[in-house]
Amino acid sequence: MTKVVKFGGSSLASAEQFKKVGDIIHADDARRFVVPSAPGKRFSDDIKVTDMLYGCYDLAAKGKDFEKEFNTIKERYYGIINELGLDLPLESEFDVIKACFIGKAGRDYAASRGEYLNGIILANYLGYSFIDAADVIFFDDRGVFDAKKTNDVLSKKLSSINNAVIPGFYGSMPNDTIKTFSRGGSDVTGSIVAAACSADLYENWTDVSGFLIADPRIVPDPMPITTITYKELRELSYMGATVLHEDAIFPVRKAGIPINIKNTNAPEDSGTMIVESTCQKPRFTITGIAGKKGFTVINIEKDMMNSELGFGRKVLEVFEKNGLSFEHMPSGIDTMSIIVHQEEFEPVEQEVLAGLHRNVHPDSIDIESGLALIAVVGRAMKSNRGTAGRIFASLAHAHVNVKMIDQGSSELNIIIGVQESDFESAVKSIYDIFVVHQL
Ligand code: ASP
Repeated sequence: MTKVVKFGGSSLASAEQFKKVGDIIHADDARRFVVPSAPGKRFSDDIKVTDMLYGCYDLAAKGKDFEKEFNTIKERYYGIINELGLDLPLESEFDVIKACFIGKAGRDYAASRGEYLNGIILANYLGYSFIDAADVIFFDDRGVFDAKKTNDVLSKKLSSINNAVIPGFYGSMPNDTIKTFSRGGSDVTGSIVAAACSADLYENWTDVSGFLIADPRIVPDPMPITTITYKELRELSYMGATVLHEDAIFPVRKAGIPINIKNTNAPEDSGTMIVESTCQKPRFTITGIAGKKGFTVINIEKDMMNSELGFGRKVLEVFEKNGLSFEHMPSGIDTMSIIVHQEEFEPVEQEVLAGLHRNVHPDSIDIESGLALIAVVGRAMKSNRGTAGRIFASLAHAHVNVKMIDQGSSELNIIIGVQESDFESAVKSIYDIFVVHQL
């Protein structure tokens, strides 16, 4: 059995955390390949090493003195090395990095050194081999991840080795420069490594015991999600639930490898399993609730709209021309509503209105901003009657006015639009009816 284990920044922020990570890895022989992040925050207003590296490099790129900032980064690493009692001089590594900063090797190069150095330390601490991600993770000329080349090289490399540490977050371009994934991208590396070695499981270790049914900032102490499908996760992540990088799903999903989100500070917790599909019935009808504020709805009215061929296309064309993608499009017989991100809409508002008048000659257009969208997601909704009824009864009970409803034909989720001021009470009331009342 092979497991790929990825540890996030907070799991590797200090020597104390390194020790926990070491214990977790040594507790299971299957944990053969390890993907570390850079050291993260040790306390809430601490600074992540990645952010320190970006800051330091920005000074270097402007030709300013960055000695002080560079030394602070060095101290973070030496603090870990010394407390772990390792004999690991990194001076020559730091000299190379400093020279590359002066030579303006790029922000991606700078940021990647966080995982690179942490990988060297972790490999030394565990007694595992170190594989530089630049030698096994590749991007093409346009900076797009090259799955084929990576898989060929990486799977060959991993098949020849029993244990290794492969730093997360970066890879190399065809011209040998370093490129990183977007922030939080070590999750993606972990997924790529898991696919390349055909792992049985991808364990993603972080500082929470998996996904929660609702946002703990809204619902106090929400229940955890024990099993979630990739599709459900996608819906919830899109709506703001953040534990895992969005792009981390694709490589393992394609290879049919489940992901287990685990807590480094509570390894006995089972965490959340993310799977392709499951016959396991969820404990509650809903798997999770997520939502976001900051949407605008554009309501278009026109008599006999229903019989006007091409009306929808002409409306959407205006949004497309203005570079806006729409979130939802509920419609009536003579009305059509388009929901967009307020932030994206505001700068092109008047162009869109003019375009709509020109394209479809509506009777009226009404714009309402300050809308929040809530996604109630659950694979069990398909086989349960009355889910929508229960949602709306609970919202009415909480005096929340529902402004929009959208249920996809997959019956995996129901999207509800409410006023931003009603957002928190709406989420709470939905959680109560499906979870608290079912306990
Ligand atoms: N260190 C990088 C970041 O802070 C990548 C990661 O931690 O996944 O975004």
